[in-house]
Parts: sequence; C-alpha cells; structure tokens
Amino acid sequence: MTSAPATDITARDEPGRVNLLDLDRAGLQRLAADLEEKPFRAVQLLKWLHQRRVTDFERMTDLSKALRSRLRECAEVRLPRPVFDQESRDGTRKWVLALDGGNAIETVFIPENGRGTLCVSSQVGCALDCTFCSTAQQGFNRNLTTAEIIGQVWFAEDALAAEGRGRRVTNVVLMGMGEPLANYRSVLPATRLMVDQHAYGLSRRRVTLSTSGLVPNLRRLAEESDISLAVSLHAPNDALRDEIVPVNRRYPLAELLDACRLYVERTPHRRITWEYVMLDGVNDGDRHAAELARLLEGIPSKINLIPFNPFPGARYRCSPAERIERFSRQLQRAGYITTVRRTRGEDIDGACGQLVGQVDDRIRRRPRWGGMEESRP
Ligand code: SAH
Repeated sequence: MTSAPATDITARDEPGRVNLLDLDRAGLQRLAADLEEKPFRAVQLLKWLHQRRVTDFERMTDLSKALRSRLRECAEVRLPRPVFDQESRDGTRKWVLALDGGNAIETVFIPENGRGTLCVSSQVGCALDCTFCSTAQQGFNRNLTTAEIIGQVWFAEDALAAEGRGRRVTNVVLMGMGEPLANYRSVLPATRLMVDQHAYGLSRRRVTLSTSGLVPNLRRLAEESDISLAVSLHAPNDALRDEIVPVNRRYPLAELLDACRLYVERTPHRRITWEYVMLDGVNDGDRHAAELARLLEGIPSKINLIPFNPFPGARYRCSPAERIERFSRQLQRAGYITTVRRTRGEDIDGACGQLVGQVDDRIRRRPRWGGMEESRP
C-alpha cells in the first residue's frame, strides 16, 4: 500500500438492508418517500455520502434523530475494500478493491495535463470474447452493483484527497473490466451519481461509457442518458469484426452504426469516440483505414487509435509506430480527428486490456495485502 484511505470505512453487511450507495438521487427520493420523509433528504444524503464521504449515520447531523435511527435499522453504507494500491512511474495509480463473495476489481487513475481520469470497472471479468483483451481470458464472474461501481469513484476521491497533492477525479471512463451495457441496471444509476451536482458533479461530457456494441441497450441509453459514448470498433467490416469482437455476429456493424447515429441525434453537438486497437498485420493496413473512413462518413466522430497492449498468451503484436502514424495520417486526411492513445501505467499492469490479469496470483502470492479469502469486512 502506498497510503491508507482517509476515511474509516465502517462497512456493515446485514441482509435485508438497503445499501445507500446503490441508490442515485431518484432512488434515495423513493427511499425517503418510503420512510415518510421529504424528497430533499435525498440531496442531504447524497452530499454526506458522496461529497463528504461520511458513512456513519450519526455524523449526518442535519438529519433528524428519528431519521438517523430509522436508517440504522433499514440501511447501510457498504463499500468495496482496498487490498492493494500501487503507483506507476508515470503517476498512474491503481487500486485493487475486494468485493463481497471473494472477487476483486481494479480501478486506475490516470493524471494528465490538469485532468484526472478514472478508469472504472463494471463487471468482474467479462462475458464477451474479444480476442485481443486479457479480461476476456478471465471469463465472467458477475455484474457489479451500483455501490461497487460508484464505490470506485468514492475510493479514488478519498485516496487522492489523502495524498494532499491536489489531484482529483475530473473524468470517468467506463473502460475497466467488463462490458458496461451488459450491466445496464447498475451502470445507469452509477453514471447518474457521477454527474449529479450533489454527488460527484462531473460534466456529462467527462463521463464516458465505452461499449463493444450491445445494440438494444445502446438504444436504451440514447433515450435515458446523455453521457459521452465511446465504441470499441477495432475493425472496418463485419468479416474482420466478427472475428476479433465476436459480439458483432449478434449485432453487426449496420445495426451498431444505426444505434450510434441515434445516440448523436439525441445528444446534439457531441461526437462518438471510436476506439481502434492497432493489431499488427490484422486491421492496420491502408485499405482498412480507407474502409474505416468510408464506414464512418456522416457520423460526428473522433477516432482513437490504441496501441495493442500485449499480455501473456496474446496472439497479436502491436502495429509498429510508423504504421500507426501512417494509419492516423490517412484518417486525418479523410477529415477525421484522430488521436493515438498514449499507453499509461504499463509497469503496474494498469494499461488497457491488462486489468486484473494477475490479481488472483498476486493476492495468493502476497497474502499480507489482505487475502481475498476473507471476503467479508
Ligand atoms: N467492454 C467495453 C469496455 C472495456 S475495454 C468495451 O469493449 O469498450 C476498454 C477499451 O480497451 C476497449 O476499447 C478495448 O477494446 C480496449 N482494449 C482491450 N484490450 C486491449 C489491449 N490488450 N490493448 C489495447 N486496448 C485494449
């Protein structure tokens, strides 16, 4: 551990209690109504929980004594537990958080030019089989709860405050482990908390959901949310995408792009970020760039080329730097804003597609970090 969290986490775990961190503002308002309290109690609770990070009802001094004692009976504040914390040479910081049931997730903080981007996980493992992603090799364990998703932001804010270096979370990307649209029910309230002015107050432009393209839930998201959208495209045609992003067989490119057009119609003045991992000799040729440029025609777009991060057992190599540069220039000439993602946090396995690969081993090898076997606080 490089530092201890600032707040004492009074985790309680009793069945039948509602975990207040599972509720967004609307959920807390429903709870307030159930307890015959006014809706503004929801805002008070949001501030205590997410801005002041107070977990003990007794310290929530603007709530009536009666309400505090009701909350003690029916509610709890339960967070994941930090078991491991590491800082990379480039300032990237990674936390491993233990969950109920013996699993762990990783959250990565990436500081950059006055910004601080937190890369948040939405599932334990992932059920999609993208061939270039190490999380896919872990298989899928379960969805995270809203509390476990927002708990990652809670933790990062708390740990960064404890550092005293003035670093803060200004952006959140749902690009950690898991497919966020496969866990829509928990992810949506978590994103609402991220942008709620009484919780984390992030700009909706600075909260980005990244998806491999679960079309029905993408359409639903277009109706219910206006956060930023990143789509893991990785191939400019169905034949290749079927192979490297197998969910494409279920939701082919034409359907995916239709849903993306709907998204930009619903969120005017916004563009979609297309993620494209650069795989040597697989998807990085001139003809792929030309096909990609044609495919995205008419959609407000930004293309983010991601150098492939290798992992043990990977069947790909990263495209050479000159290739990535050439691919990027070709797209720029076609009129697309194109950036190359700088790999961060490699030395702590915090880079894209490297998350969680070694968690189990690490914890088994080094039990002093608090073993996963003691899954209950
Ligand atoms: N399931 C979601 C979010 C998680 S992945 C999605 O597919 O978008 C976040 C990003 O990292 C995706 O664009 C993903 O394709 C990319 N990625 C996964 N493995 C990678 C690897 N080994 N190297 C580089 N990028 C990778």
